[in-house]
Amino acid sequence: DLQVPLAVALDGADLPPGAGLPRGFGLSDDSFVHDGQITRRQIRAVTLSTLAPRPGEMLWDIGGGSGSISVEWCLNGGHAICIEPRPDRIANIETNIAAYGLGTRMRALHGRAPEALAGLPAPDAIFVGGGADAALIAALPPARLVVNAVTLETEALLIQLQAARGGQLMRLSLEEAAPLGTMRGWSPARSVTQWSWP
Ligand code: SAH
Repeated sequence: DLQVPLAVALDGADLPPGAGLPRGFGLSDDSFVHDGQITRRQIRAVTLSTLAPRPGEMLWDIGGGSGSISVEWCLNGGHAICIEPRPDRIANIETNIAAYGLGTRMRALHGRAPEALAGLPAPDAIFVGGGADAALIAALPPARLVVNAVTLETEALLIQLQAARGGQLMRLSLEEAAPLGTMRGWSPARSVTQWSWP
């Protein structure tokens, strides 16, 4: 069961030391109900920094997964629609919306982009964490855009997009110390390529 220290969210709340939800991007992965498909804490922190939420802004989170990106966007004052085709993941997103008390700011939309995007309120920013292909990117309305890729195919698309449209391309690599026999070694995560525009 997910225990979210909600008191946290209240400005000026008089909390005991160590209580409450940490401020800043990159809540721990176990702050969310997920099935393993989640943007990891460190990558999520950088992704939210690139998305740069401002109060009142609308995010489309395409490939919602657990909804972690949208939750952190909304905790920073925004509104979000989280688009996800898998019903089991929609259930996780709804659990996370409820746990963070974000029912008025965030919603889970069961469907597949780009079809599911028709008729949605216009976004200020769009994050694509799943399903990125040339047709999807071409179908997006004008908005700040952040796309993360872990596959060679999607990375190739992002390399092409930056050549054609500009924006920033970066690659995030992360290693964490883990047991290696009787000692420790660096255990690398899959690198993430991120294209952001403009
Ligand atoms: N950012 C998420 C993890 C995303 S995993 C998190 O932090 O939890 C990528 C997700 O994209 C998967 O759940 C997959 O079902 C979804 N997906 C794949 N193709 C899609 C499409 N065309 N439209 C919307 N979602 C898609």
